[in-house]
Amino acid sequence: NKRIKIKELLATAAQGQQVTVMGWVRTFRNNQFVALNDGSTNNNLQVVIELGKYDDAFLKRITTSASLKVTGILVESLGKGQSVEVKAEEVEILGDSDAETYPLQPKKHSLEFLREKAHLRFRTNTFSSVFRVRHSLAFAVHKFFNDKGFFYLHTPIVTASDAEGAGEMFRVSTLPFDNPPRKEDGSVDFSEDFFGRATNLTVSGQLEGELGATALGQIYTFGPTFRAENSNTARHLAEFWMIEPEAAFYDLEDNAALAEEFIQYIIRYAMENNGDDLEFLRQRLLDEEKGKPQTERSELDLIQKLQFVVENKFERITYTEAIDILLQSNHYKKKKFQYDVKWGIDMQSEHERYLVEKHFKKPVIVTDYPKEIKAFYMRQNEDGKTVAAMDILAPGIGEIVGGSQREERYDKLVERMKEMHVPAEELWWYLDTRRFGTVPHAGFGLGFERMVQFVTGMGNIRDVIPFPRTPKNAEF
Ligand code: ATP
Ligand code: MG
Ligand code: MG
Ligand code: MG
Repeated sequence: NKRIKIKELLATAAQGQQVTVMGWVRTFRNNQFVALNDGSTNNNLQVVIELGKYDDAFLKRITTSASLKVTGILVESLGKGQSVEVKAEEVEILGDSDAETYPLQPKKHSLEFLREKAHLRFRTNTFSSVFRVRHSLAFAVHKFFNDKGFFYLHTPIVTASDAEGAGEMFRVSTLPFDNPPRKEDGSVDFSEDFFGRATNLTVSGQLEGELGATALGQIYTFGPTFRAENSNTARHLAEFWMIEPEAAFYDLEDNAALAEEFIQYIIRYAMENNGDDLEFLRQRLLDEEKGKPQTERSELDLIQKLQFVVENKFERITYTEAIDILLQSNHYKKKKFQYDVKWGIDMQSEHERYLVEKHFKKPVIVTDYPKEIKAFYMRQNEDGKTVAAMDILAPGIGEIVGGSQREERYDKLVERMKEMHVPAEELWWYLDTRRFGTVPHAGFGLGFERMVQFVTGMGNIRDVIPFPRTPKNAEF
C-alpha cells in the first residue's frame, strides 16, 4: 500500500511525483474538482479529474462522503488556498455515499445539531481538529510523566470503595434486576453477587494510586472515571477521563509546582504539534464571536490565551483570600452572584470563574480549603479548620484540578474518617499504608476533558469527548 497521508503529502511530496491517496469526498465541483479529506488534516487535497475521462454514471457516484482511492501526479495548483493538487490518473470508488440520505451537508452545522449526529460528527473539520488535539494532549500526558520518572499504574475500573464519598457511583452487578436475592431485613444481598459484595464503577483511582506511590515512589493513573452526575452542565460528564499523579515525599508546594509544570507542558506540546488545528479552532471562535458586542468578546484569541498560560506563572492564593476577594468585589456588592459568598462555602463555578476571568485574568491555584467541604484523606493543617487542599481554576472553565497533600498520620486519618462517617473497616487496606512506613505524599486529579476544553476553546464538554455520556444519553 503506497498510500501517502494528505498532511504528509502537503508537507513533503515533490511536484511531478506519482502519489496514491485515500479519503472521503468533502465536495465535488463541475464534474472535475474533488476536495478530498483523509482525516490527517483539515486541509483538503484537490483532485482534478480530466473531463471526458469517466462517464456520467461514474461521476454521479462521487458524492459527499463517498470514499475514494486516487492515484495521480502531484502538480502545482492555480486554485487559491492550496499550493499543489493531484491530476488523477486513476480514481476508484471504495464506498458509495447516498447523497439523498447522508445527514451532513458541506455547509456549517451547529454544535447542537452535530451532537444529535454524534456518530458522524468526526467527519467535520471542527471535530477532527478537536480529536486530533485530544490525541496529542493524551500523548503528552504520558510523555511528561514518563520523562519525570512517574510510572503509569492501572487502577481498577470496578471497585468497592467510594473515594470521594459523594454518592455519585454507578453500581456494577450481575444480580437479576426484577427479583434480586434479599437479606432478612429486605435489603439486597450482595453476597450473592458476582464479586460477593457490592461494587461500583470507579469515581477516582486515587486511593489505589496511593498504594502504588507508597512503594514505587511516583505513579500516575490515566483512565476512565464514572460519576452519576445528575445535572446537565457544560463541564460534567457521567464518564470522563482523569489523570491522577500520586507522589511519595511530595508536600502541597511540590504538588502545586508539579501540576503547573504539567499543565504548561501539555499545552505547549499541543501548540508545537497541532498548530494548524489550533489555528482552525482559533478562527472558529473568532467567527463565533463576530455576532457579539465588542464588550463580550475575549481580549485574547485562543492562541494568545494559550501562549499567555504557558509563559506566566499561575496565581497562588489561599481559600480564605479567595473568599475575601469575592466579598470585596463590586460583583458581590451589586448582588450579581447567584449563590451566597461566605467562608465555608464550596465555591460555585460562578465564583471560580469570577476569580480567574475578572480578577486575576490567569489560572489560579487556590489552597487550604475548609475541611468540611473536602474529602477525608486530605492532610489537616495546624489551624484545625483547613486542609492542605489545592484546586486549580482555569479561565472559561473553573475547576480543572483538585488535589491535596494526603493525611499520612494514622491517628489523624482515622479520627477524620470517624467524623465523616467513612467506614474504616472497609478501607483497612488503605490504612495499612499509614501503618507500615507511612510517608508524606500528595497528588491531584486533572479532568482530561476540561483540559481539552481549555485548549480547544470548546464551550461544552460534550464536544471534546468522542462518545459523551450524560443523563438520558448513551446511544452508542
Ligand atoms: P466539580 O466541582 O466541578 O463537580 P469535583 O470537585 O467534584 O468537580 P474532583 O472530585 O475534585 O471533582 O475531581 C477532580 C477533577 O476531575 C476535577 O477538578 C475536574 O477537572 C474533573 N471532574 C470532576 N467531575 C467531573 C465530571 N463529572 N465530568 C468531567 N470532569 C470532571
Ligand atoms: Mg463534582
Ligand atoms: Mg469541586
Ligand atoms: Mg474538586
